[in-house]
Amino acid sequence: MTQPRGDQTLSPGGGEGQGEGATVEMDRPMRLVDSHCHIDGPEYDADRGDVVARAKAGGLAKAVIVGLWRGPGDFGWALEVAAAEPGWAFPTVGVHPHDCARVGADDWALLEALAARPDVVAVGETGLDYHYDHSPRPAQRASFERQLDLARRLGKPVTVHLREAQQDCLAILTAARAGEGPGGVVHCFSGIRAEAEAYLALGLHLSIAGIVTFKTAGALREAAAAVPLDRLLVETDSPFLTPVPHRGKRNEPAHVALVVREIARVKRLPPEEVAAATAANAERLFRLGA
Ligand SMILES: [Zn+2]
Repeated sequence: MTQPRGDQTLSPGGGEGQGEGATVEMDRPMRLVDSHCHIDGPEYDADRGDVVARAKAGGLAKAVIVGLWRGPGDFGWALEVAAAEPGWAFPTVGVHPHDCARVGADDWALLEALAARPDVVAVGETGLDYHYDHSPRPAQRASFERQLDLARRLGKPVTVHLREAQQDCLAILTAARAGEGPGGVVHCFSGIRAEAEAYLALGLHLSIAGIVTFKTAGALREAAAAVPLDRLLVETDSPFLTPVPHRGKRNEPAHVALVVREIARVKRLPPEEVAAATAANAERLFRLGA
């Protein structure tokens, strides 16, 4: 087993000309997977190729592109963007809780057809968002249950979006036995340790995004420290949730390395170990490029 040595990542030692005993953690290559990003969005139309190239140069082995309903007959460009990067990018399709009340019968049928495609690795993101309440809560719950059922029928994992709806979310996931079979992940988990433990008890994975680097995220860092390494994923949720020190700018998948470094720091593990474990977990859950 590797010795915990997270503190070394913060120490200034080890520059050029040091003896061969000196290690420079920052320079060690990491093998990363971004388990949730939206680089099919218009935010990247001008420079998507550069964004992908930077991610690959930074050690990003794979990325899951979350494709969402945007309007009648329109699930965005996740499938096309992923098809342009075979073996590197993998699409999902889903209806976000924000939008679910506006989705008609034709588009629910289209979701079923797209989700069944062999290149689509998961259903989602789906879930509950009681913070914004952009769709009425009963519609959110029905949409969530419908997409959990779809994922189950297709034998694919589900990507869950949850905000200020912990109780209902847990009840629906429990009733659907969502942690069994192909399983799933609570994306952008930002709760406390007890909440993390409830999802882990259901058999679900947790994915942590750039919020973990925010100054105010002490409770999330405590939760992240407690999540077993074999149930943890990392993500950027690009273009959102840009980690420190890039806050205020558009996020991009290369920044998942900053999420890994912060989790490694709180877990007192080498960053490359956290990177390798979270990459392997994402590859296993979403069956990426087997
Ligand atoms: Zn998302």
